[in-house]
Amino acid sequence: MRTLLILGGTGEARALAARAAGWRVVTSLAGRVRDPRLPEGEVRVGGFGGPEGLAGWLLAEGVGAVVDATHPFASRISASAVAAARAAGVPLLALHRPGWTEGPGDDWRRVPSVEAAAGALPALGERIMLTTGRQSLDAFADLGLFFLIRTVDPPSTRLPERHRLVLDRGPYTVEGEAALMREHTIDVLVTKDSGGAMTAAKLVAARRREIPVVMVDRPPMPDGVPAVSTVDDAEGWLRGIGAG
Ligand code: NAP
Repeated sequence: MRTLLILGGTGEARALAARAAGWRVVTSLAGRVRDPRLPEGEVRVGGFGGPEGLAGWLLAEGVGAVVDATHPFASRISASAVAAARAAGVPLLALHRPGWTEGPGDDWRRVPSVEAAAGALPALGERIMLTTGRQSLDAFADLGLFFLIRTVDPPSTRLPERHRLVLDRGPYTVEGEAALMREHTIDVLVTKDSGGAMTAAKLVAARRREIPVVMVDRPPMPDGVPAVSTVDDAEGWLRGIGAG
């Protein structure tokens, strides 16, 4: 049986691991989350040591295909996958779920980065719900606003003086998100354009509350890599390659 390496950390990666019939599946996790949801099949944890380390791993394990199913904002590992797959001569597919789309009644402000989101906030409101992850909180520390910060694991970076920390992970409900926003009288939501259903309830709650959403755009994907946005299509790509 040939080996499929799934670069994981997402629900799509777990779904593909369960459905990649005929392959020995190894899912790789970065090891950031203390108690990750584990996929079926084998799991390895931790960085590879850059593109060279990953290329070496692909060759040592005789990997027949790589699917980059990491979070759309995890751009270093995606770039590393492109370089490593090229160097090792292994086919690579990018599987990234579609971003969210603004609808009637939404008031979204798209920004290119977390820093730009922080820059936009003082003009928009005073009580901010912040869901951009625990790695980028530094950018908001000196704004003097109130932040309701929600992360999966406790942050280790500097936090704004006025904040409330909620440790939780999806899926969330619209009712739950609306109650949280009401309780903390939130007047702006900040989120990355992660896409997917698990965390979309906050967008509906923000629309109903008629508050603006600062939406951090995704970083660009590396050029020249076949890309799909559904697990079905990734399965189809794997069938095309043929399990061994
Ligand atoms: P990143 O900036 O792209 O990656 C930083 C380094 O972490 C990489 O260079 C790599 O180290 C290692 N790494 C990342 N993903 C890995 C994986 N799946 N397996 C092995 N090593 C990995 O990534 P990040 O933004 O810190 O995200 C880390 C992981 O959390 C990703 O796998 C992603 O799917 C998941 N995640 C990220 C977010 C987000 O908002 N960024 C949200 C939810 C889940 P080496 O160079 O040493 O190989």
